[in-house]
Parts: sequence; C-alpha cells; structure tokens
Amino acid sequence: MATVIDGKAFAAGLREKIGKAVSEIQSNHGVKPGLTVVLVGEDPASQVYVRSKGKQTVEAGMESTEHKLPADTSEADLLALIDRLNNDDSVNGILVQLPLPDHIDESKVINAISVAKDVDGFHIENVGKLSIGEESLVPCTPAGCVLLLKDHLGDLTGKNAVIVGRSNIVGKPVSMLLLQENCTVTVAHSRTQDLPAVCREADILVAAVGVPELVKGDWVKPGATVIDVGINRIETAEGKTRLVGDVDYAGASEVAGAITPVPGGVGPMTIACLLRNTVIAACRQHGVPVPDGI
Ligand code: NAD
Repeated sequence: MATVIDGKAFAAGLREKIGKAVSEIQSNHGVKPGLTVVLVGEDPASQVYVRSKGKQTVEAGMESTEHKLPADTSEADLLALIDRLNNDDSVNGILVQLPLPDHIDESKVINAISVAKDVDGFHIENVGKLSIGEESLVPCTPAGCVLLLKDHLGDLTGKNAVIVGRSNIVGKPVSMLLLQENCTVTVAHSRTQDLPAVCREADILVAAVGVPELVKGDWVKPGATVIDVGINRIETAEGKTRLVGDVDYAGASEVAGAITPVPGGVGPMTIACLLRNTVIAACRQHGVPVPDGI
C-alpha cells in the first residue's frame, strides 16, 4: 500500500515556521506582514474560504483585513479599492477572491493588483516571470504540490512528471514549477489521446481535473507518487455528500508508492502557501531577507 502524504500535518508545520518567521521579522525589522482579502458577493464556498484565510493569517501573527463588498459592486469601484490597497504600505498582500460576479472582468481586476502584492500569483507579469524562471510570486496550490513532492522525494531531477489538467490556476503553473525542478514534464488534458497510457509513464502524477475519481488505479505506474489536487463533492448511496479527489484513491493507493488523500492532502497547503507568499511579499517590499526555512 502507498505511503499517505499527510498534507494537513505538513501544512501545520509550515504555518508554525511562518509564525516564527513573522515574529522574527517583526522584532528584528519592525515589519508586520499584512494580507487583505477582497470578497465580492455572497458565494457560500468563498465565504468559508475567506474566513479560514483570515483566521490562519491572524494565527500566524500577521495583520488580516477583509473587504466584503455587495454582489452589485461596480468594476470601477472594485478597481478604485485595489488602487487604494496598492498604495497602502500596511498592505503587503492583496487577494481578490474568485470567482467574481459576471459583470466584472476578472483579468482586468487581477492585473490591476500591484505585481509585488499579488500573493495569488495570477497577475500576468508573475505568470510570465514564473515561465521564464525569474523571481515571482508563485500560485499557492501549485507551490503546495511541489513542496509536498520535494518533501517526499527530495531532488526531483529527471523524474517523468505527468500533469492532468492545463488550467491557469493549477495545471500550467505546476508544469512550470516541475520544469524548474528539472522534471521531464507532460501536460495532459481533455483532448489527450490515450490518457491512461500517458499517465502510466509518470513517476510523478498530478491530477488537477475536476472530474471525480477520473484517474484509476491501473493508470498509475507502480511506485509512482500521486498528487491529487481535485476537490469534488459527490453524493453517496445514503443520500449524504462526501469529498473525493480526481483520483480513485482506493485503486491508486494499491499501486502508487505514495499518494495525497482528499481531504487532507493538497487542500490545506493552499492557505499555508498564501501565508508564505504574504511573508515573502512583505520582506521584498521592505528590503528584508526572507527568513530561511519557509
Ligand atoms: P479547471 O476546470 O479550470 O481545469 C480542468 C482541466 O482538466 C482542464 O485543463 C481540462 O482540459 C482538464 N480536463 C477536464 N476533463 C478532463 C478529462 N476527462 N480528461 C483529461 N483532462 C480533463 O479546473 P482547476 O481550477 O484546475 O481545478 C481542478 C481541480 O482541482 C478541481 O477539482 C478543483 O476543485 C481543484 N482545486 C483544488 C485546489 C486546492 O486544493 N486548494 C485549488 C484549485 C483547484
């Protein structure tokens, strides 16, 4: 049976290190990193997520601010708020919770955020810097996947990595990060021919698809490391719901060398990496060295 990669425990350890780094920066340099989250509308999943971000930001000793705007907020008003936050020195990281209501142009809003404060790493300039290997702010979920992989496997050089999914939020940035780690990277997607055969070549298999349990056990190369990014709520036979990933966990864990569970794998890494990005952003903005170990 595969080793279970415990993302929940890893994320808790990372948050602890971040908390120590925050107090070090504050006592040595007088800088208290601050994260501002902007939520437009009342999407229940987004509200839960924003609350969780706020709580974990405060627990790590950072300043947390939230701007909750009504669903009918105009694009111009949202852009004006971002402009104010860009110019506010106490704000080191700005995150606009997605999705935004239909009348607001998401890419216009993301690209209005200061590149230095773009802790989601979605600004076109950060995307470009990541793709050419320059210092940038890296998207949180992909960064979390790579931290788990490096923690489990050490040096990733020469590994065959297959990423299923080519979204801008997960698939593409994971592929860029794994290229930087010297993997041989294949990005598979909905038009890929013979997906099971492509997956069977993977030493590292990352599933970021959004299709419940798409990746079957016999798609996994024996001993491979499987990172399941998917979070899908499905109905059980008893009429209840439960979370499953994009990988058939029971089948894959009989073949894989290691696998992340859902929940408790990649999921908790996202906010931990958001806190990490906020500390990194604050350090860069104040010319302070980023503490080791985060
Ligand atoms: P997306 O819908 O933007 O992209 C899905 C990708 O999968 C697309 O590139 C598409 O080509 C590919 N795809 C779809 N069906 C396919 C099929 N049958 N075979 C092969 N490829 C197929 O999704 P996303 O935003 O990248 O999210 C993917 C999953 O990861 C979702 O379940 C989402 O909930 C989850 N997610 C989790 C976190 C987290 O852990 N914090 C963060 C982001 C996304």
